[in-house]
Amino acid sequence: MTASEEKFTRQTLLDVQTLTPSLFTLRTTRDPGFRFRAGQFARLGVTKADGSAVWRAYSMVSAPHDDYLEFFSIVVPGGEFTSELSRLRVGDELRVDRQAFGFLTLDRFVDGRDLWLLSTGTGLAPFLSILQDFEVWQRFERIFLVYSVREACELAYQPLIAGLGERDYLAEHAGKLRYLPLVTRETHPAALHGRITTLLENGELERAAGQVLEPEHSRIMLCGNPQMIEDTRALLKARDLQLSLSRRPGQVAVETYW
Ligand SMILES: Cc1cc2nc3c(=O)[nH]c(=O)nc-3n(C[C@H](O)[C@H](O)[C@H](O)COP(=O)(O)OP(=O)(O)OC[C@H]3O[C@@H](n4cnc5c(N)ncnc54)[C@H](O)[C@@H]3O)c2cc1C
Repeated sequence: MTASEEKFTRQTLLDVQTLTPSLFTLRTTRDPGFRFRAGQFARLGVTKADGSAVWRAYSMVSAPHDDYLEFFSIVVPGGEFTSELSRLRVGDELRVDRQAFGFLTLDRFVDGRDLWLLSTGTGLAPFLSILQDFEVWQRFERIFLVYSVREACELAYQPLIAGLGERDYLAEHAGKLRYLPLVTRETHPAALHGRITTLLENGELERAAGQVLEPEHSRIMLCGNPQMIEDTRALLKARDLQLSLSRRPGQVAVETYW
């Protein structure tokens, strides 16, 4: 099989940043033919010592207009894929599927005024891509980025989030973003304390946002831990905020990571 017939391209690692012992970021070259919508994911492949390849889904952190790809990864102890991925260094090869996938994109919503982006851990990744793309800033009046981690040292991409408003193409819209970090296992002066579900149930999240969730104006994206997604969906459903389907537009879109 020639390289152009393969279902993937071979990209080169440009940068690797270790954030904590279990979190790191990767930047790679990008095939000029690779297209995606902000919020989508690609399948990444690494080659194991025995020559076989392992593949896993990864959301793009980088924007569709960037000429590189960036990913944000967990290290699962003994995990088949992340054990290999976390060993890669600048100059190494990473396989990237030619096609991007996924429905956690703004296409899921036909309308809406407020966008709520609710993430746990590496589930932040697709929201960083969405926030670096211009469309979201044009379409929504208010954007709430909720990012839940266990310990404050796991809050990744803080300079990127803080710097969004300084990008020339976003400057006039920067006031639309309200960033709400949550830390569940310790208290931190700049973060809310508790899980997304707890803070939704007791009203603290909406109080901190200064905005209520309601079907007419709120559109909500959930990404990360499957239990958070299941429990949050149930809470939202009870408030008449429904999953958005192509045959029935709604308020909620989800991406479950495992
Ligand atoms: C659509 C989609 C997009 C994804 N995007 C990302 C991403 O951007 N970054 C990322 O790190 N992972 C992402 N994942 C998860 C990723 O595909 C792998 O599961 C992860 O790399 C672990 O692979 P593994 O073989 O080492 O462990 P696996 O055998 O795949 O997983 C073992 C266990 O590790 C835990 N786990 C897996 N992924 C995570 C995670 N991200 N955070 C916390 N615990 C986890 C779960 O308990 C899981 O059962 C995504 C998954 C899906 C379906």
